[in-house]
This record gives sequence, structure tokens and C-alpha cells, in this order.
Amino acid sequence: MKTDKLAKTFCVDSGKHFRLKDFDPASTGHWRSKEHAAESLQEGICRMAELQDKLYAQDRWALLLIFQAMDAAGKDGVIKHVMSGVNPQGCQVHSFKAPSDVELQHDFLWRTTCDLPERGHIGIFNRSYYEEVLVVRVHPDILKSQKTPPSLVGKKLWEERFEDIRCFEKHMARSGTVIRKFFLNVSKKEQKRRFLARLDEPEKNWKFSAADIRERGCWEDYQKAYEDMIRNTASEHAPWYVVPADNKWFTRLVVSTVIVDALESLQLAYPTVSDEKRKELAGARKELVK
Ligand code: ATP
Ligand code: MG
Repeated sequence: MKTDKLAKTFCVDSGKHFRLKDFDPASTGHWRSKEHAAESLQEGICRMAELQDKLYAQDRWALLLIFQAMDAAGKDGVIKHVMSGVNPQGCQVHSFKAPSDVELQHDFLWRTTCDLPERGHIGIFNRSYYEEVLVVRVHPDILKSQKTPPSLVGKKLWEERFEDIRCFEKHMARSGTVIRKFFLNVSKKEQKRRFLARLDEPEKNWKFSAADIRERGCWEDYQKAYEDMIRNTASEHAPWYVVPADNKWFTRLVVSTVIVDALESLQLAYPTVSDEKRKELAGARKELVK
């Protein structure tokens, strides 16, 4: 089955009329089953590997992939599966937890800026600066530990953070970093099922964290925060993809399609060799076969 329109279906590149409830976490588009999607997923992964090779060789563009989601939505699994075909030399994954003391000495974009992908590379953020308008918004107490001068923490704080993020992403896009942002949209019911599996299946016990259950208690606040975040930070140069996450196989298919589309749009090509270089290669060849 063709994946042509798949990326577009879940793309939000203008937040104006965005409503989270218009996106069904259980959707699987026209795909009926995991087996049905397997071939398309495999094709996507192979294509991604070819394109990454050119991205690396051309050394002009960088690709930044941002993953945000509620716990157990499948961020780790998507990253593992979708990137299984790419060359690790040109791809780095960074996970962002609660900021350290050193990180709190700086502005909220600082720590992620240090880990942005260099030209020719793919950078994956497992959580990101978007936590600053999600967990921090849902738990405003965190703000107190952030050391921002109190006179700068006003009523417009969230608007200001959205503006900072928009400007930052515009700047990155203008410098050659292509940004694609994924919100893995899992339902509350499916999250419960996955948490229960973490409790009931010994090989999944290690994934369980009591903090995840506490965050689940704030489900509605998080949904509002995600909706507002997408409304305020979706743009053509840094779109959000609201990816259905109740079926892991479909999440992976959509994410791989979006990445392939993003790389295809760059019309990547291997660098061409100058006449002088060609002469040098011919000389080296002669020498070798002598
Ligand atoms: P997994 O549970 O799959 O290992 P995870 O991304 O949930 O992955 P955890 O260590 O469980 O990793 O959680 C990281 C925590 O750090 C999350 O609760 C997240 O909200 C929190 N966090 C990330 N960035 C910030 C931030 N800027 N301020 C406060 N908390 C943050
Ligand atoms: Mg967690």
C-alpha cells in the first residue's frame, strides 16, 4: 500500500484551528494489521538509509527529530525500530530528563542547543525543550527551582516561551536544520493497558516507575498543555505530527514515512567531483594497477 499521503494526514503545520480531539489515537489509516504494514515499513527504513548516506556525504543539511509523548506512548520503541537501518555514525540520540544543577545555571534552551545535530547528521531528541511548556506548566512548582529572576516570571510566561521556541526553530531552519516534531498520541485507556503489562510481566517490570502513575493523574492537564503547545509552535518549517500511538506498528510506519518525506524534500545528492579531483583519481588508479 502506498504511504504517499500518510505524512500529510497527521501533519499540523499551522496551529490556528488545531484541536487534539480531532486526532484519533487508535487510527491505523488504511492499514489493517501489522503484517499489512510490515513491507511499507521495511521499504521506508531502507530508503531512509540511502538518503542518510547522501545527507552525510553532502554535509550541508542537518535533520532534527523531536519526540514528545505521555509515558508508555512508545518513544523508545519508535526510535529503536525506525532508526534500525541508519548508520550510527551519522545519527545521535539524546534523552532529556529533569535538568541538572549545571543546566539550571543557563536559559532553558541552552542544554538542548549543545546537542543539536551537526551538518550531515540526524539528531533525535527523546523529550526536548518542549518539556518547558509541558511538565513545567503542569507542575508550576518546578518553575521555582529554575532560578529565573522572579521579576521575569510573569503572566505571559508561556506565551513568551512559545515565542522563544518559534524564533529558535526559525533560526535553526534558516541555518539548514530541518525540524520534524512528533507527538505520539496515545489514549488514556491504552496507557493503562501498557502500565498493567509493565506490572504483570516480569520482563517489563524494569520499565515501571511510580512517577508515571502520578503523571497519569494529571492526564487532562497534560492534554491541554500538549494542545496549546502544538497550537503555538506548529509551523511550515517545523511542523508537528500528531501520530496515532495506540498501535505501535502504525506509529512506526507514520514516523518512518515522515522522515523519508523530509529527507526526500532536500533533493540530496552525492557531491560531484571537480575536473582536477578526477585527474587525481585517474592518477591514483594508474598507480594502483601498475
Ligand atoms: P522512559 O520512562 O521510557 O525511560 P522517559 O523519557 O519517560 O523515558 P524518565 O527518566 O522516566 O524518562 O523521565 C524523564 C522525566 O524528566 C520526565 O518526567 C520529564 O517530564 C522530566 N523532564 C524532562 N525535561 C524536564 C524539564 N526541563 N524540567 C523538568 N522535568 C523535565
Ligand atoms: Mg518515564
